[in-house]
Amino acid sequence: MEKKDAYIALGSNMGNRAGNLSMALELMERNPHIEVKKVSSSYLTEPWGKVNQADFFNQVCWIETDLSPWELLKKLQEIEIKMGRQPSEKWGPRIIDLDIILYGQEIVQERDLIIPHPYAQQRLFVLIPLQEINPEIVFPDSGMGIREVLIRALGREEKKSIKRID
Ligand code: ADP
Ligand code: MG
Repeated sequence: MEKKDAYIALGSNMGNRAGNLSMALELMERNPHIEVKKVSSSYLTEPWGKVNQADFFNQVCWIETDLSPWELLKKLQEIEIKMGRQPSEKWGPRIIDLDIILYGQEIVQERDLIIPHPYAQQRLFVLIPLQEINPEIVFPDSGMGIREVLIRALGREEKKSIKRID
């Protein structure tokens, strides 16, 4: 199968948060169907949704894969489980969260898989690292470039602290 560029958002707010992000990257790299091409800096961000929990470490990586979007989701969920993620409340604390932000220019709208990720275009902790690793990105649903999406999100989102940490 043809290889596609995809972008994965990583998040952790439990345990060794920096270590969890690097472990997830290592487990992705270990998969022969996934090549990690570029990794953003890590960012320390205030949580969304349920706010009385620890800050998140967030990162985005650019991968190349011959897996379908569904196969990729399954592999990412296997990594989450292997790392000890428990099924828990939505937006609650987690050891690791791996979300598919973009998969080529494909649009997927199924019950269990939505690409581009539904919240990506409003979350600064996704948009900022995404622009850092590839400022040429275009969202296939809105047709907007990452720069424009980021400017819009900056004007709209309530200001939460996002600190680049490396
Ligand atoms: P969230 O990431 O929204 O905080 P979870 O990680 O618990 O919550 O994900 C819940 C479900 O989201 C997963 O079981 C998965 O089927 C679904 N999902 C839909 N679209 C995506 C996507 N683009 N990437 C990852 N998961 C997705
Ligand atoms: Mg998730």
